[in-house]
Amino acid sequence: MKLGVEAAVVDGQLVPGDVEVVGGRVAGLGLSSPHGRGIAVPGFVDLQVNGFAGVDFLTADADGYRFAADAILETGVTAFLPTFITSPEEQLLAALREVPAESDGARVLGAHLEGPFLSALRLGIHPAAARRNPDLELLERLLDAGPVRLVTLAPELPGAGAVIERLLRREVAVSAGHSDASAEQTNHAFDLGVRSVTHLFNAMRPFHHRDPGIVGAALARPDVVIQVILDWVHIAPVTAAMVWQAAPARMALVTDAVAGAGVADGDYRLGDLDVEIRDGVARGADGALAGSTLTMIEAVRNLHALGVPLEDAVGAATEVPARVLRLPSAGRIGIGLPADVVVLNDELEVERVLVEGRARVVG
Ligand code: ZN
Repeated sequence: MKLGVEAAVVDGQLVPGDVEVVGGRVAGLGLSSPHGRGIAVPGFVDLQVNGFAGVDFLTADADGYRFAADAILETGVTAFLPTFITSPEEQLLAALREVPAESDGARVLGAHLEGPFLSALRLGIHPAAARRNPDLELLERLLDAGPVRLVTLAPELPGAGAVIERLLRREVAVSAGHSDASAEQTNHAFDLGVRSVTHLFNAMRPFHHRDPGIVGAALARPDVVIQVILDWVHIAPVTAAMVWQAAPARMALVTDAVAGAGVADGDYRLGDLDVEIRDGVARGADGALAGSTLTMIEAVRNLHALGVPLEDAVGAATEVPARVLRLPSAGRIGIGLPADVVVLNDELEVERVLVEGRARVVG
């Protein structure tokens, strides 16, 4: 089957011509396409999704996962990490047990634990009562409960080094975030193998030229992926442009979407917290930002609107986040790879989505 597109984004390059899919995998690229329309890009990979389409993953059951994983395909996301904020142990264990091994919609790659090993000084919306200092025994219970794929932690906390080493040994990626770390403490974590920072600028020690902190350390370090929420609420466009100039090939777009994303303004839950969404901005009871209603295709458009070439903006939603998870074949279109493909029209709207070659969203 040919997709009938005019070009495809392949490893960061716009390759003119059609794409052929055979047996769920990409079998041909750059094929003649005189009447081709649209651009095929890899399916988006979202590392931070608290909920979507009315479903809060912390309390979702199998039906909830099915519904949300199906709905999120319409935003171009074909693989994601359901993300659990800091919560009591029993709630995290229960949530981890519900993470499905397989999904019929967007692929569930495993869970992102955003906490509970976070800085008490940089919790944002996370409930302080459930915060914990790094604890290897608690970590083991969490890892045994379900497929943990990524952990956000504050690397300056006592015992963080041992937790980082244990996670990396179990092939769980680690991201620094919700942190008051100095640049020196952050670099120590990078030296241990931490390769990412969670929503740069949000819920961390602010950058100061004499105290660059986690922000400065991450920007200065070429082997670290920087996750950002490009909804123009969490960071300003100039801030995003600055990050792009400093770290062009290592910016990963995340949505940090909450249950109200993909639905409408209103009142929702994030674990045990009440979240109010007004004008698309999600806030907790104290007014602090509580995730977003951003979709990944909007984030790609926002990055492109800063002057970033489409191929690179797509890379920030595909290859770069897949790199955090050490999944070299995810987030790419390539011969022999699973055909997880999004077809975009000239307005950069999602026209079609294929998962393993099967058309799941048809515009
Ligand atoms: Zn957060």
